Amino acid sequence: MSVIDFRHVQEMKGSKICSLCKEKFWGFGHNPQPTFNLKVEDRCCDECNERIVLPRRWREARGEIN
Ligand SMILES: [Zn+2]
Repeated sequence: MSVIDFRHVQEMKGSKICSLCKEKFWGFGHNPQPTFNLKVEDRCCDECNERIVLPRRWREARGEIN
């Protein structure tokens, strides 16, 4: 199976749009809360989770953000 075929199959199974970068991604995704005022069903991609959501959560955990 080629890469294009594989991606097509994944798309058929249902891709999601990242709530942060608006890029299409596959898989379960991550919960962007409490970083942004998004709906519970919003999902963000791996990249946004690592680059935006996790660092923000760490800062909140250290009390740098109220
Ligand atoms: Zn994203």
